Amino acid sequence: MYTNYNFDRYTRRKFIYDFSCNVGFAALAINGLAATMGCGTNTEEKQEEKSGNQKAQNKLGIALVGLGGYSSGELAPALQETEHCYLAGIVTGTPEKAEKWQKQYDIPGKNIYNYQNFDSIKDNPDIDIVYVVLPNSMHAEYTIRAAKAAKHVICEKPMAVSVEECENMIAASREAGKMLSIGYRLHFDPYHLEMMRLGQKKVYGAIKKIKADNGMDGTSGWRLDKKLSGGGPLMDLGVYCIQGARYTTGLEPIAVTAQEGPKTDKEMFKDVEETLFWQMEFPGGIKAECMCSYSKGTNLLRAEAEKGWFELSPTYAYRGLKGKTAEGEMNFPGVNQQARQMDDFAKAIKDKRPTPVPGEMGLQDVKILTAIYKAMETGKRVEIS
Ligand code: NAD
Repeated sequence: MYTNYNFDRYTRRKFIYDFSCNVGFAALAINGLAATMGCGTNTEEKQEEKSGNQKAQNKLGIALVGLGGYSSGELAPALQETEHCYLAGIVTGTPEKAEKWQKQYDIPGKNIYNYQNFDSIKDNPDIDIVYVVLPNSMHAEYTIRAAKAAKHVICEKPMAVSVEECENMIAASREAGKMLSIGYRLHFDPYHLEMMRLGQKKVYGAIKKIKADNGMDGTSGWRLDKKLSGGGPLMDLGVYCIQGARYTTGLEPIAVTAQEGPKTDKEMFKDVEETLFWQMEFPGGIKAECMCSYSKGTNLLRAEAEKGWFELSPTYAYRGLKGKTAEGEMNFPGVNQQARQMDDFAKAIKDKRPTPVPGEMGLQDVKILTAIYKAMETGKRVEIS
């Protein structure tokens, strides 16, 4: 059903305004007028003032699209720590969430959108970056709409559910002259940066083998619905293993093979795989052995090289990562991965430099994900085009 949340808000705010000022300017924009005449509520004034202060500090405004677990548990809290960007707006289909977030984060009413009036975000100078945090099959639509609204975009992983969608997203951002990045937070974590350094600089000699596992025991909701997720744990968790193998070796896989694991719950996993094993061939004979699952908790990224090994476990978590090499433990400070990731994108926009995690990187991962599913279905080795 169509819910014009902003319209509802306007109506309610107009009532407050009329009541308190006893003026009947029915057709006037309540936001601006009420503020100018000093009739806005304290809360509204506070929200606008706080937002204005952030802008004055040269921070870019981010609007989160989709206020589910990741937005509420990680991104919004991280945006309280960022230096180059701030939580300026939200896009949600649930008025109760809008109200709660508005109070909790002092978001001005004019920066709150729903999925129907989202495109009018193009007229809002407070919003510089749209961050798409929706189920996977909705990433392409909202990224393209945001680009058409002349906004820079961060899109969550996996970038989309098909190669064609990824290409359209990249084209839309390019046409708009705006930047597109993927929510690959681990590129900003010191433990993963160390895996990149050790592997790409061949600190232990040439890599021979990678092992990457990512699984959790249980999932629910849209992740089990192929129309919304595009697939099972490979789309959600396996993409981290692909990323890990790519950035540890600094190379692109040439071909893949894959085998679906047994289904212990045929009803729950009627639409998507429960467990998947796959192998990636890299140039120079490097092999990556990978596994992902929605019924087994596991977390590893390990590289075996000519003169030693290095690994992370836990690997893909938000915090509490641990790393070891043949010579001993890694010891890095814990960081807020999401704050670093968003700050780096905002800084890239300000400095007019590329992001290290662009749409093209997400596209390459979706090409690999697609090849892995093809290999799983056909039982054949599939080359990555
Ligand atoms: P979630 O289920 O907690 O939230 C999804 C949000 O989308 C909800 O607010 C829901 O209301 C909204 N939504 C809008 N239309 C919907 C529809 N038709 N069906 C279902 N929900 C709909 O999911 P999440 O865990 O926040 O994941 C969102 C995205 O973020 C996914 O792409 C996921 O892969 C990604 N994610 C990334 C990380 C990371 O570490 N980078 C972590 C978690 C999730």
